[in-house]
Amino acid sequence: MKGLVLDSSALFYGKDLPSDFELVITPGVATELRRHDMEDRLDLLLETRVRVLSPSKHSLVRVISEGERTGDSRRLSSTDKEVLALALDLGYEIVTDDYSVQNLASALGIAFRGLEQKEIRSVVTWKAKCRGCGKVFDADVQECDVCGSPTSMKGGKR
Ligand SMILES: [Zn+2]
Repeated sequence: MKGLVLDSSALFYGKDLPSDFELVITPGVATELRRHDMEDRLDLLLETRVRVLSPSKHSLVRVISEGERTGDSRRLSSTDKEVLALALDLGYEIVTDDYSVQNLASALGIAFRGLEQKEIRSVVTWKAKCRGCGKVFDADVQECDVCGSPTSMKGGKR
């Protein structure tokens, strides 16, 4: 059975969770939902469709070091890193609308999808990315303001 790792945004805003996948979340995602008064929704999900799993240390270390390399690590919460590491462990796809999570997922060879919402799908996904430090800019920026390297175009996979 194929599976999906859901981040908090997928559970906050996702209307219908896809039906023919195994669904997993990390302990950090569960904590974020409780903190946002979504206890009832969380309990319902845990009783029915969603399992909570922790990532391995090995995968977390890989996510953290790849995040340093791409420059995404400062924008990622520890929960984001857990989500990425768990997807690495299981070989599952991530459901997220967080651009940094998507970016690091690409770098790590993890498949991802955005939420199934029209307004989000219509967002332009082209970005410029610094070839030196990995900082991501709007598509028209040619030179990095951090390290001065040229940028290259990068398209989000949707
Ligand atoms: Zn740079």
